[in-house]
Amino acid sequence: MTQDRSLSARHIHIKGVVQGVGFRPFVYNLAAKLSLAGWVLNSSSGVEIKAVGPDDVLDEFVERLMNDSPPLARIEYISATSVPPATVDMPEPGRFVIRHSQAQPGEFLPISPDVAICDDCLHELFDPDDRRYRYPFINCTNCGPRFTIIQDIPYDRPKTTMAPFVMCPDCQAEYGDPTNRRFHAQPNACPMCGPHIWLQISNLQPPISSGDNAIRAVRQMLVEGKIVAVKGLGGFHLACDATNDEAVTLLRERKGRVDKPFAIMSFDLETVEMYCEVNDDERTLLTSRERPVVLLRRRPNAPISPLVAPGNNTLGVMLPYTPLHYLLLEPTNGFPVALVMTSGNYSEEPIAIDNDEALERLGNLADGFLLHDRDIHARCDDSVTRIFAGMELPIRRSRGCAPYPVHLPFEVKQVLGVGGELKNTFCLTRDRYAFLSQHIGDMENYETLQFFEQMVEQLKRTFRIEPEIVACDMHPGYLSTQWAKSQISNLKSPISFVQHHHAHIASVMAENGLAGGASVIGVAFDGTGYGTDGAIWGGEFLVADYASFRRAAHLKYVPLPGGDAAIRRPYRTALAHLWAAGIAWDDGLPAVAVAPLGERVILEQQLKREVSVVPTSSVGRLFDAVSALAGVCQEINYEAQAAIELEMLVAGSVEGGEAYPFHLADEEVDPAPCIGAVVADVRAGVPAGVIAARFHQGLAHMIRDVCLRIRKETGLWDVALSGGVFQNVTLLGMVLPLLDEAGFTVYTHRLVPPNDACVSLGQAVVADANS
Ligand SMILES: [Zn+2]
Ligand SMILES: [Zn+2]
Repeated sequence: MTQDRSLSARHIHIKGVVQGVGFRPFVYNLAAKLSLAGWVLNSSSGVEIKAVGPDDVLDEFVERLMNDSPPLARIEYISATSVPPATVDMPEPGRFVIRHSQAQPGEFLPISPDVAICDDCLHELFDPDDRRYRYPFINCTNCGPRFTIIQDIPYDRPKTTMAPFVMCPDCQAEYGDPTNRRFHAQPNACPMCGPHIWLQISNLQPPISSGDNAIRAVRQMLVEGKIVAVKGLGGFHLACDATNDEAVTLLRERKGRVDKPFAIMSFDLETVEMYCEVNDDERTLLTSRERPVVLLRRRPNAPISPLVAPGNNTLGVMLPYTPLHYLLLEPTNGFPVALVMTSGNYSEEPIAIDNDEALERLGNLADGFLLHDRDIHARCDDSVTRIFAGMELPIRRSRGCAPYPVHLPFEVKQVLGVGGELKNTFCLTRDRYAFLSQHIGDMENYETLQFFEQMVEQLKRTFRIEPEIVACDMHPGYLSTQWAKSQISNLKSPISFVQHHHAHIASVMAENGLAGGASVIGVAFDGTGYGTDGAIWGGEFLVADYASFRRAAHLKYVPLPGGDAAIRRPYRTALAHLWAAGIAWDDGLPAVAVAPLGERVILEQQLKREVSVVPTSSVGRLFDAVSALAGVCQEINYEAQAAIELEMLVAGSVEGGEAYPFHLADEEVDPAPCIGAVVADVRAGVPAGVIAARFHQGLAHMIRDVCLRIRKETGLWDVALSGGVFQNVTLLGMVLPLLDEAGFTVYTHRLVPPNDACVSLGQAVVADANS
């Protein structure tokens, strides 16, 4: 250190994602370069630094801390206060050192999501001279598992599932060397000291091979059309050859999944571009360190089995994100260009994570198990996303994203939003953070509820949150609502019941940073949400702020006979819509023809007498009705299938078709004219693709017209769109320009999905606003 200049000192606090991302070595190296003395340490609230040196050098130090930080770090807050140099305790006078972590009760900091393997590690993986050549658990400070192996904070190896692996002298030397890229890389490991892989056929037989032999054997099985369960980062995948119809059929049969698309994985971008169209934004997303499944347009002659995504012109594609994936998918002659990589579970159950659990639960699904001995602490499914109009439109926010928080535009209390039923997530808030959980799943069975409870406990502990308020949906039948009610005795305040579509709109407001007093015209379109009048809502125009809402307009109620049966069989919804529109059930219509005569008689009785019918304003059901009327889809086996297949037909057909009309009267938007026009087109032999296009145009114009009317009443120029219907990029592509031309400012989801995965965030901010 320069002795001839007078010395100053700074006490620096940094918050954000600054642990497990190489931040301390960065600080250390920067301080050494600038010849500063002092220390840096991880505390449970972030990183704390005391530095001594000349004033101008200290200023430069602080500036470079902010500007040159490592790639995975996200600084959210930095403070630097001058302190007398004499008060800085110096473990080694004149030098800069890294001190041991300190935990302070009650404080917390965001932890990093899992990160895809970095280029440096990937290079080592395939370098025959490297000591980690072909080692499936290679990682460094910039990459590797985080969230899925962390058991508690501060993030240190003993608090991860790497704790049982004692580092060998070589790994320990890297770990202790501040100039090494594995300095304090908590999951650091090598073939000598770290986890290993093996292949096992069942829980009754011992492993048959390990290491590279296991990889070779698994690849051979895949080439032969077999199904292999592969232990990954956040859980098991079921893998098979995505180009092999028989293998994919077998997987569908065994998994009990009829048509719902499977995600696939290819070795690199060039391979993906062989079978999908990929633009620059999609390329960035595919290769991002989050490595989500990205929905891409399939090329006409793609060598991928049509059974991977029946009825879809998109494919969900991801690139490898662990070293094991790279070894598994390494291109060689005769090895498939893509593998199906779908979550390792029976449909509806949470993804398997433990070896024994997988061998047990997936025993009848897989012909072999590629296992390893690094435990997965937090289950985490792959994230799913797509690009729309140059920006990301998330569909599932999970591995690679969770538990990174959404930043709120205001301070909030500690609240737990338990979410909805389908695609459940929960949300914990404190300060200005909303921590959304990873994808929990459809809360319809005990296993999913158990997973939900475990994760609530874990994230409460990790983020030091003890919720004062629990917020839930108003639907009395939701498991999440019932669970919330069971928590009453632990709470300081009563439970907050939040209307489903209000939660949707509050969620899109919050992620867009709208201020506490903001009001919007909220358009919430989805399949099902419990209304304040007990009806099933889903075509809602709300005048909403965070605390409250008024139902300004909605799709006119149509009686839905036998709720769940109608959802599974869209032709029943079509018959209900015909009935409501006063159109006879004519056998010339595909949706009528497909309904058995006996069923029609019963339906008619139900509708006439209003027995076992639920009134609904759902736009999701309107999609079902039109899809069935146009002869596209009469029965479904996954959520929104009829709507998705209808949307797929719009692409490639004339978009300029005239928009179907809706009748706007007071607070009701009557779909009867639209249904009438669909029927007329079906009778005239108009192709389904044109009907689909006119229907989408009709909805887009209706949204614009209703918003204009509400603007006239209220003077509101801000529109917020939410709900599963707005995952439909064809509809978005039509409605956004219309709203834009009309002068509206439009807010859409970019951080959390528009579907029910966003409901927990909305619940939390609504409950906070009412507290
Ligand atoms: Zn790395
Ligand atoms: Zn080692």
